[in-house]
Amino acid sequence: MRSWCIGALVIFLLARRCAPAHIGCIPLSDTARHTLPVPPGGTIGILGGGPLGRMLALAAARLGLKTHIYTDCHGECAGQVADAYTVGRFDDEAALVKFAATCDAATFEFENVPAAAVAILEQQVPINPSAKALRIAQDRFDEKTFALNLALKTAPFEAVSNEGDIDGAFKRIGGGRAILKTRRFGYDGKGQEKVSSAADVRRAFTKFKQTPSILEGFVDFAFECSVVGARGTDGRFEAYDPPENSHENHILRRSSVPGLLTARQCEEAKRIAERVADALDYVGVLAVELFVGKDGTLLVNEIAPRVHNSGHWTIDACHVSQFEQHIRAVAGWPLGNPARHSDAIMTNIIGEEADDWAKLAAHGGALHLYGKGEARPGRKMGHITRLSRRT
Ligand code: AMP
Repeated sequence: MRSWCIGALVIFLLARRCAPAHIGCIPLSDTARHTLPVPPGGTIGILGGGPLGRMLALAAARLGLKTHIYTDCHGECAGQVADAYTVGRFDDEAALVKFAATCDAATFEFENVPAAAVAILEQQVPINPSAKALRIAQDRFDEKTFALNLALKTAPFEAVSNEGDIDGAFKRIGGGRAILKTRRFGYDGKGQEKVSSAADVRRAFTKFKQTPSILEGFVDFAFECSVVGARGTDGRFEAYDPPENSHENHILRRSSVPGLLTARQCEEAKRIAERVADALDYVGVLAVELFVGKDGTLLVNEIAPRVHNSGHWTIDACHVSQFEQHIRAVAGWPLGNPARHSDAIMTNIIGEEADDWAKLAAHGGALHLYGKGEARPGRKMGHITRLSRRT
């Protein structure tokens, strides 16, 4: 009898581990319409459960929409503010289909979500941005090639797929200082190595275990900036004022609006984002990270097919934030007004800095804490936005 009970318990626990866990708070409609626009009361599905998903869920709630998070981790912070939370694998087709049945529209909050999962959902429910846009942005070589094909400027780059590519690639980008980056899955400086000779490239490529990579010429830029914009289902495009961004240890520390960009550079940055969005027939918010050269030239560094850390200031300084704008776009609603009513400096709260929450709360800025448990080094725990009168 005892061994039968233990056997049953093991089978039960294994089944729980493998099956998607639904940790719902409010029951969602099982009659999702799957057509746009999604009316208030409808449900937006979000792949990913991190801070960006959390801020999307908060924005959706303000519009009277529900959210259902699908993620492969238990206890992520978006679950604290969403209506339903499902834990499942991103390659579990049956679980994704079941999730889609509860959603009127869907989106994702991080770009490393497998494009195949988005492609599965595309068969079930309106999901934006598209799997095609995601695929291009997931691969640094494809992304930069796409930018060049739109006649946008980038740093010189070459693919490094095997050892034999290294000498030619190093020569073609002009030699000198360069950066080897893995084509996929790099973020916050991970999967990147500075190099200054073909021998360095070889060492870095070995360190990356011969993962397909891209070799980029080092840009001696004046500063970094980004542009966050949204494209609606009707093709209308709206961009936010581009912030100047500063990084520490490869992690975004601060976004300032206005920054050092001239009025002409602001307009040019917005047109770059619009061209990217139009060419992808994009729906939702995207960000384009740019280097501003010492001669004022704008070079495309990265395209993020999602809401972006450098757009967090829009929550407090704009009529409609990037999060609300993204929800509006993926729900098929008209885009809102992205105009900035205040100047803003957004500072990320990283790692143990969040332990000083009482001091931060007394600081006078708009404080956003993401409800993450452990303050590990380098982990983005929240942000604070200081507003001032618009200049
Ligand atoms: P990424 O992951 O490509 O966004 O790179 C992270 C950071 O590394 C950027 O924000 C830059 O500060 C720096 N970086 C990346 N690529 C280059 C480059 N080609 N030249 C100079 N700095 C770079």
